[in-house]
Amino acid sequence: MTDIRPSRKTPPPEIIAITPPLTPPSKTSDLFEDNIPVDIDIPDNYVDYTLRNTKPLPPVTWQNFWTELNWLNVTILSITPILTIWGLFTVSVQYKTFFFAILYYFFTGLGITAGYHRLWSHRSYNASKPLQYFLAAAGAGAVQGSIKWWCRGHRAHHRYTDTDLDPYGAHHGLFWSHMGWMIVKPRRKPGVADVSDLSKNSVIRWQHKYYLQLILIMALGLPTLIAGLGWGDWKGGFFYAGATRLMFVHHSTFCVNSLAHYLGETPFDDKHTPRDHFITALVTIGEGYHNFHHQFPMDYRNAIRWYQYDPTKWFITVCQKLGLASHLKAFPDNEVKKGQLTMELKKLRQTQDDLRWPSDSNDLPVISWESFQEQSTKRPLVLISGFIHDVSSFMDEHPGGRHLLAKNIGKDATTAFFGGVYDHSNAAHNLLAMMRVGVLHGGAEHASEKAIPPSQKLRIVRATEFASTCSSSAMSETEGDNLLNYAGAAAGESKLKERRSN
Ligand SMILES: [Zn+2]
Ligand SMILES: [Zn+2]
Repeated sequence: MTDIRPSRKTPPPEIIAITPPLTPPSKTSDLFEDNIPVDIDIPDNYVDYTLRNTKPLPPVTWQNFWTELNWLNVTILSITPILTIWGLFTVSVQYKTFFFAILYYFFTGLGITAGYHRLWSHRSYNASKPLQYFLAAAGAGAVQGSIKWWCRGHRAHHRYTDTDLDPYGAHHGLFWSHMGWMIVKPRRKPGVADVSDLSKNSVIRWQHKYYLQLILIMALGLPTLIAGLGWGDWKGGFFYAGATRLMFVHHSTFCVNSLAHYLGETPFDDKHTPRDHFITALVTIGEGYHNFHHQFPMDYRNAIRWYQYDPTKWFITVCQKLGLASHLKAFPDNEVKKGQLTMELKKLRQTQDDLRWPSDSNDLPVISWESFQEQSTKRPLVLISGFIHDVSSFMDEHPGGRHLLAKNIGKDATTAFFGGVYDHSNAAHNLLAMMRVGVLHGGAEHASEKAIPPSQKLRIVRATEFASTCSSSAMSETEGDNLLNYAGAAAGESKLKERRSN
């Protein structure tokens, strides 16, 4: 096996160990002293080198899971459903608390989607200080780790999607990407991703410093206080707006890593697992158009159509109107459409490849006029546009009657076919081409526009195929300059053959 070493003399950069969510750093200052981008000297073959030269921890089994679990995360993720069940048995649900819990779900959820994700992970817009404090506090209420920890993992997810350097790689399965990656100790350090820009942000430093206090206040304290002081439902505020709401916010975000890489379509690119689906958008406050998002991560939108569900985009737009947000980034529509067109062409190409097509002039035998005449006495052969067709299977099917075909056997019926007797439909022309059995020697007609069946005048051709077609038809004056228009090149090829045969 060849030893692949880093392409530069410097060793691979030290990767910051992924810390478990919710674990306050031992020394806050340590996490904010890396103002130099951590990936500044990254070797060109970093992914390959790292995967080959670092060993993941052994798989989690029934024998070792006890020591491999991240107990802090296990506790947090199981305590919310336990409190929910406890609440359901002991506290009746008040409608005010119920609606407040939904509102608080959106408030803390937006802290993650509009704040942690679109603002800080992807810098898709600029936020004023008040909006940043609002999002940092709201995000703390979603209890998903500090902004810096979260964004570091998310940037690695985008950079190393579907590789083992992606902290929640979808290739490990739905459960792993949803929460498995959090409840066990990480099997591998996630790939390097720079967050030095976040280290300089005073709001992020503030959130990091008071993270523990903030999560206690924002996740449980504030909702309990609002429901308690507001309408006397202290217990409901704690259980439903606090714990139950938190459980929903957790799984809502987790769905962006699991469901959004599993369910739906790939309208922009199918290279990786991210997908677009309305259901995912519904359960993630609009983060469900994930195929678009992975293609255009710095776009403040996830959904680009007005009717698609993306409350996070609407929230950012409202903030802009209020003067709280600015510089909303949106990829040029022209570039977005290119992605869509590529995927549409791919589908059409598949349809094209699944159909049977007529033989091309290069694949057919060249037959002399004498041979054509002689063979026409044995089977019904008709010459149209330089191609010789065996119409025996069609004699009784011909809508104009058998006699019209019979009288053209052994003759050139080009004029009769193209309007002399009846101007045949595109479908008739396509079907006729399927009956080709030869090319007439010296017959110039098969190079004409009429020789190309309508179904082949516009075709999807890959750039590599198009290049070879162009070079083989270099003598042609008519080759098309449009990738889609194969007809010109095909006609060119026919001409070439004609010249060779002359
Ligand atoms: Zn993703
Ligand atoms: Zn993202």
